[in-house]
This record gives sequence, structure tokens and C-alpha cells, in this order.
Amino acid sequence: MSFDADVIVVGAGPAGSTVAMLLAASSVRVRIVDRATFPRDKPCGDYCNPGAVGLLRDLGMLPAVLDAGAAVISAMRVYAQDGSRFEAPFPVGDGLLLPRLRLDAALLGHASRAGAVIEEGVAVESVRIHPDAVDVQMASGRRLRARLLIAADGMHSTIARRLGRLRVPAAARYTVGAYFSSLSHTTPGGELHLGSGLYAGVAHFGGGVANVCMALPRRLWRRAGPQPTFEAALTCLPALAEAMAGARRESAFRCCGPVGFAARDPVADRVLLIGDAGGQIEPMTGQGIFLALHSASLAAGVALEAVRTGDLSRRRLATYAQRRRLEIAGKLAVSRWLQRLALHPGITPLLVGRLRAHPSLAGDLLGATGDVLRPGSVLSPAYLARLFT
Ligand SMILES: Cc1cc2nc3c(=O)[nH]c(=O)nc-3n(C[C@H](O)[C@H](O)[C@H](O)COP(=O)(O)OP(=O)(O)OC[C@H]3O[C@@H](n4cnc5c(N)ncnc54)[C@H](O)[C@@H]3O)c2cc1C
Repeated sequence: MSFDADVIVVGAGPAGSTVAMLLAASSVRVRIVDRATFPRDKPCGDYCNPGAVGLLRDLGMLPAVLDAGAAVISAMRVYAQDGSRFEAPFPVGDGLLLPRLRLDAALLGHASRAGAVIEEGVAVESVRIHPDAVDVQMASGRRLRARLLIAADGMHSTIARRLGRLRVPAAARYTVGAYFSSLSHTTPGGELHLGSGLYAGVAHFGGGVANVCMALPRRLWRRAGPQPTFEAALTCLPALAEAMAGARRESAFRCCGPVGFAARDPVADRVLLIGDAGGQIEPMTGQGIFLALHSASLAAGVALEAVRTGDLSRRRLATYAQRRRLEIAGKLAVSRWLQRLALHPGITPLLVGRLRAHPSLAGDLLGATGDVLRPGSVLSPAYLARLFT
């Protein structure tokens, strides 16, 4: 039987580029296909948390990301509904702000230099798993055959859907965002603005230029489209509204959703689902890129072994699912309790006040959501008692 590649990776975002780079560097024949042509934009807050920066460094990708113009940030500001705020440094490492247009192109360059074959502008439509191969069917009618398929095709993954693994949450948020200039804030910095059931992440790149990305429940979506939706949500975030008075929009609005969905199981015979395709954490805490890089690294190790031994069964690949679950369970728990507490106007100002008064509590929270401290550090009864009493 002839194969077009040992491994086909569908999707060239951070997850796909990283797994392809790692496999190609180990002499596995890898082909990445993506329906977009790079550099391509993507709805995102453009924030790499300290954990993601650490992984980029370990993977040897950080210099290219810095060369692409990333702004380094060492702290995060968080605003409550009443305009009160706390600002705290990351307890370990730094974060980065870089538009996805440039970040993803830099990472894909790494995969290409490692030897992965890249095909852009190619949409995958379906997948067929055979006992001794996997076929990937393109929208154009072309078919590619490999030993293993790695689905890195992002949220609402076509492959997860084809395999019946997609589980879209009923009460999820939708997002709307754009790039702006002439904001009052002129130095690089990361901000999170918390409203009632909605929030906005702001990446200030410097010089008054920022990416403002909001997430809100579907019921707040205006029929008239993104602009009125964005403006109505802004009225619920007073500190952001003030900073944006006089701001000029520099890009089209980018909308997506529902966000924060789960994939039922990230493995099948001859298939691994990584990054958002394997399940997406709610973007509020800015952990998606970390999880994309981390799941790609886990998958690369398991895939390498599986390709070398020739055993690509679900049973063999299940190690990846187990390791991923161990990594993600605590993070999802932190994300859930933050969404419950931090988007509640009766509670958030109180929490923000406590975090401002107790920098060590704020540092632990930024460390856990920044993926440099274990989630247990903020899920422990001791931490919660200090936060609430
Ligand atoms: C509004 C919003 C804001 C966010 N902000 C942040 C943030 O600030 N920080 C953070 O860490 N995370 C953030 N996230 C999460 C982060 O964007 C994702 O977790 C991350 O992009 C996942 O990377 P990935 O490689 O899995 O998928 P993606 O980056 O989505 O890449 C998937 C790729 O697959 C391709 N593709 C899709 N379907 C097909 C197909 N059928 N055929 C071929 N190719 C296909 C796409 O073109 C794309 O290039 C945010 C998410 C959203 C929605």
C-alpha cells in the first residue's frame, strides 16, 4: 500500500504546526493541510500566557515569535463591573502579545523548516478509517492516504464532527472583536474586563493600538450585527468604554462561537484530536494556545511511538487521551469557578478588592490561569478560605 505521508495533520494553527514540527524533526514523513492561506487571521485575544511562552521556549520556537514583533508583558490588569481593578505581576515568567496573523505564520515556518510538507488552501471534508490506513477526503475531491491522522482543525473541528465526537454546549458564549487605534492606553499590557455574564480581553500592543475581544451570551447578540452588539456590550464595561472613547476601528469585526465546547474523546483508531479540535477551554483565562502547544507535544510523543511500532489502534493511542485529561481537568475546574464567580456583579468587585489587597492571592490566581502554577494552588480549601474571609 502506498501512503502520501506517515502522518497527515489537518490544521496549521499552533497545535498543528507544533505536532508537525516535532514529528518531522524525528524523521516522520508529515504533511499539513489547511483550508486557509498563510498568513491568516483568526478570532483571538492575541495573548500567549507565561505557560505558553515557556513551551515556545522549550520547543525552540520563541526566538521566531519574538522576531515577529511580540510585545512582552509581565503583569495583568483585571477590572470589575464597577471599574475597580487589581494589577498583579505573573509569579513566574512573562506573557506575550502578538496578532495571530504573525504568531501562526511564525510557528508554521518552524514546521516547514523541520521538513513537514505544507499544503494551503485545501479544505478537508471527511475522513475514512480503514484497518491499515486512514483516508482524508478534500472538498476538491482529492484524497490523501496516511498511517495516522492528527486533527488540529480547531473549534468545531470537521474531523471531530465526522467522527461523531463534537459536543456543542447549549449555553455557550459568542465572541466579537476587532483591532482599534487611538486608545488612551499607549504602553503594552494585557487586560481583562469583567461584566455581568460577559467579558472582554484587551491586548494593548503599544502606541494606542489594541485588540479588543468580547465574549457574551447569545441573548445579548443584536440582530443588526457585530457593531451594535459590540457597542451595547461596551456600555456594561465602564473602564473599557472610557479607554476606548475616541478609538478608531482598524479591522473588520471577527465573530465566532459558541466557544468552550468539548470533544467526547480525542482518540480513535488511527486518529488523534489535538488543540481546540480535542475540546476548547472558555477563552476568558487565555489558556487555549498553551493547551494547543501542550496537547501537540503530548500527541507527538504518542504518535512517534505508534508509527514506529506500527500499532495505531485506539488502545495504543489512548495514552494521549489519559495524559491530556490529567493535564486539563484541573484547568477546566478553575475556568468553571471563575466564570461562575467573576461574571457576577454582586461578587466580582468584592473578589477584585480582595485580590488587590492581597498580592499573593492575585499572584497564585495569575499563576494558575497562566499555566505556570498547578490548578490545585487556587482550588485548595486554604486558598479559597483566604480569598473569601
Ligand atoms: C475569541 C477568542 C479569543 C481567544 N483568545 C485567546 C487568547 O488570548 N489566548 C489564548 O491562549 N487562547 C485564546 N483563544 C483560544 C485559542 O484561539 C485557541 O485555543 C487556539 O487557537 C487553538 O489552536 P489550534 O491550533 O487548536 O486551532 P486553530 O488555531 O483554530 O487552527 C485551526 C486551523 O485549522 C484549519 N481548518 C479548520 N477546518 C479545516 C478543514 N476542514 N480543512 C482544513 N483546514 C481546516 C483552520 O484554517 C486553522 O488554521 C481564544 C479563542 C477565541 C475563540
